[in-house]
Amino acid sequence: MTGSAVVVGGGIGGLATAIGLRLIGWEVTVLERAPVLADVGAGISLHANGIRALDVLGVGEAVRAVARPQYTGGTRTPDGSWLARMDGAALERALGTPIVGVPRADLHRLLRAALPVGCLAIGTDVPSVDCSDPGRARVPGRAGALDADLVVAADGVDSRLRTQLFPGHPGPVHSGSTVLRAITAHPVPLPTDFELTWGRGTEFGHIAFADGRAEWHAVLNAPAGTRHADPLAAVRRRFGGWHDPIPALLDATRPEAVLHHDIHELATPLPAFAVGRIALVGDAAHAMTPNLGQGACQALEDAVTLAAALATERTVERALARYDAQRRPRSQSVARAARQAGRMGQRLTHPMAVSLRNAALRLAPSRATARTILRHADWAPPSLG
Ligand SMILES: Cc1cc2nc3c(=O)[nH]c(=O)nc-3n(C[C@H](O)[C@H](O)[C@H](O)COP(=O)(O)OP(=O)(O)OC[C@H]3O[C@@H](n4cnc5c(N)ncnc54)[C@H](O)[C@@H]3O)c2cc1C
Repeated sequence: MTGSAVVVGGGIGGLATAIGLRLIGWEVTVLERAPVLADVGAGISLHANGIRALDVLGVGEAVRAVARPQYTGGTRTPDGSWLARMDGAALERALGTPIVGVPRADLHRLLRAALPVGCLAIGTDVPSVDCSDPGRARVPGRAGALDADLVVAADGVDSRLRTQLFPGHPGPVHSGSTVLRAITAHPVPLPTDFELTWGRGTEFGHIAFADGRAEWHAVLNAPAGTRHADPLAAVRRRFGGWHDPIPALLDATRPEAVLHHDIHELATPLPAFAVGRIALVGDAAHAMTPNLGQGACQALEDAVTLAAALATERTVERALARYDAQRRPRSQSVARAARQAGRMGQRLTHPMAVSLRNAALRLAPSRATARTILRHADWAPPSLG
């Protein structure tokens, strides 16, 4: 089946879905509300499932070429002692790829480059979709309304289309954590590719990039809306005394590069990922806490699964029913696992619970860390052909 689609939102989920739909022969327009493509954001790690989805979309090689494989690293305590090591080579043997780290701006650029010029319309805010005709969906655009066989709601965690489709749903909630993050201004000598360090209710992590720079993130339990006049100084006060290379990462950061966001998630799972001719993908469908590094990977899985269903089924309705059946249980179980990982990791505050957790991690065989990653990353994408 071929047809026309409007994708609302030009983030990772929306761009990937647009690529998938074009590969199966659909006409696609992506409407993005941002007036300029500022290419901000820190870094992102992609697990095998995300990379396999990118391969199906034809951009896996380009992403690998700018990404850094994460072979070494693991989880530490603030004094630097190791709780668990990550063996990227073992993951590579099991899955064909280690986790890779890439600046978000590069991933966005490569996804955009896979779409024809003119496919993406920026500065277009879509408040709602007209679904009164069951055979078509109508989306308000800057140059008049667009009619389409399918609308993809890829408008992120605060999705307005989700609110339209599920008015009784409580929407996203604050996870209890806030995250400050940045990319260093210049390369930093790092002993490992990837680290997480857990204090009490706090986490500091880094992902090294191919050019020697790194992204770091500092996560803290904090009420929503907590802000600092000087975010970098606040991070230094809290984490500057932690083990190397944390002070060096902070020293290599320009104050204006620090981004600060509260972490929200869709704690109440949606009852469906499709209504009529509208499919939800990415954070609009299943915003999760970042504790497993799976949010964008799940969005990439959505993109490929939706395109495969549309390529195979005879009607949009049947394709969306299949998409919902294939994506909802998996992504919602990954979201539950991410929340649980946060509870046992960054969010844990009670000293006794932290000591017990740390003792258990030290005793666990290194296979246990790899098994946790494999459980979510070992996903086989459907073919689009
Ligand atoms: C701190 C942190 C670290 C993370 N790390 C990882 C990681 O390492 N690996 C991983 O896989 N995931 C990670 N994630 C999750 C990942 O960032 C998200 O899951 C992913 O970016 C979601 O993509 P999306 O396209 O669904 O949403 P978004 O990226 O939010 O894109 C939505 C787009 O829609 C646009 N939009 C919104 N409303 C409208 C509207 N009304 N009209 C038109 N356009 C609109 C927005 O401007 C935006 O461009 C992390 C998340 C956080 C918070």
